[in-house]
Amino acid sequence: MIGIAELRLDGNAVGGLLGELFALDLTATPCTCGGCGAREPMACLDVYVGAGIVVRCRHCDAVMIRIVQGHGRTWLDLSGTTSLQLGPQ
Ligand SMILES: [Zn+2]
Repeated sequence: MIGIAELRLDGNAVGGLLGELFALDLTATPCTCGGCGAREPMACLDVYVGAGIVVRCRHCDAVMIRIVQGHGRTWLDLSGTTSLQLGPQ
């Protein structure tokens, strides 16, 4: 039986996909959690891959980003993220 910790990846796992969508490398992008206010680089977030991709805060486990792809489309839900800081860090 596979435990949930074995399915967890870090934020680098979604860096390539989001990099394609934003035409930027987002792995170092500071992301602010809408649940607890923690601010971490995307590479430090927890990523779960299943039918879609769920990115969770490492501090409070809140869902920060959801990504679903199908039929040539991508749905990106950032409602759990207060901000993404794009540009020079
Ligand atoms: Zn949080």
